[in-house]
Amino acid sequence: MAPVPQSFAPRRDEPLFGRLAIIGIGLIGSSIARAAKDLNLAGRVLLYDRDEAVRQRARELGLGHEVAETAAEAVRDADHIVLCVPVGACGTVAAEIASALKPGAILSDVGSVKKSVVEAVLPHLPEGVHFVPAHPVAGTENSGPDAGFPSLFLNRWCILTPPEGTHETAIARTRQFWEGMGAIVEIMTASHHDLVLAVTSHLPHLIAYNIVGTAEDLAAVTQSEVIKFSAGGFRDFTRIAASDPTMWRDVFLHNKDAVLEMLGRFSEDLAVLTRAIRFGDGDTLHKHFTRTRAIRRGIVALGQEKPETEKLRKD
Ligand code: NAP
Repeated sequence: MAPVPQSFAPRRDEPLFGRLAIIGIGLIGSSIARAAKDLNLAGRVLLYDRDEAVRQRARELGLGHEVAETAAEAVRDADHIVLCVPVGACGTVAAEIASALKPGAILSDVGSVKKSVVEAVLPHLPEGVHFVPAHPVAGTENSGPDAGFPSLFLNRWCILTPPEGTHETAIARTRQFWEGMGAIVEIMTASHHDLVLAVTSHLPHLIAYNIVGTAEDLAAVTQSEVIKFSAGGFRDFTRIAASDPTMWRDVFLHNKDAVLEMLGRFSEDLAVLTRAIRFGDGDTLHKHFTRTRAIRRGIVALGQEKPETEKLRKD
């Protein structure tokens, strides 16, 4: 059954965690910081980013309660630590903070790929620290501390991929944390997550990056025509293709096998459609488009996207 959409996430009377540390103050880290403070998910929210200008901006924006000068300083005595850095940086940050983590702390992340993050982080995990990886399936094409907003996770899925044997209490508290921000939590293995996201997120991004590049390279269609007539479908691709280059480079490098598998299937299916167009096989095209329309309607019915009419009114 579809989850009932919430109009807002309520503020807690008592904080869930005493101290929350967020490493990486970009779109996702700053959104968590805003939500955690607004909704009283933690008594104190400490932030750190390796970029001095970002730390300064976070202070100006009043994100969290404190912006630390080192990652170790931010995580000291923290009950919950969320790594909000690109997937390829999670192992390095885990090594940097490992000795400062207190026993009983719950370490988590938000990486868009899970298996490689688990493999990179687990070797640095000190005795007594729990690791509950997470991936909020929510975002925008914008980056940095100004881009975040507290309702980013409201009614969005958050997938937890705890390694086998993870303490149930640590999983339950991580679930509460994301549910506290209005997310709907689902648990699966890291490998399964990577396969599902390869088709629902990684492949669409690759296609968008590719098609926007193709349009730019066309000699017969001018740049101004591409921009002028972009409402014919191209505009949605340009939004996706504007996503953060560092984040997406890491996603493809770290989910290589699943993306290549999906890309292979995609190419085969594309060959079928190409053939149908070449031979004027309207039936095949019509059947295919009818099937895909049903998928779109299923997504709207699940509350993960607004119906087109409502979107048009809001735009
Ligand atoms: P972002 O806006 O680019 O922010 C990432 C921040 O982390 C940047 O300020 C970056 O600094 C900093 N950083 C990088 N390496 C670091 C390190 N070693 N130590 C401390 N800080 C470091 O990125 P984001 O969109 O929030 O993405 C963060 C994570 O969320 C990624 O793993 C991504 O896969 C995941 N995610 C993103 C989305 C989305 O739509 N954006 C959705 C779900 C999950 P520099 O600029 O100096 O590198």
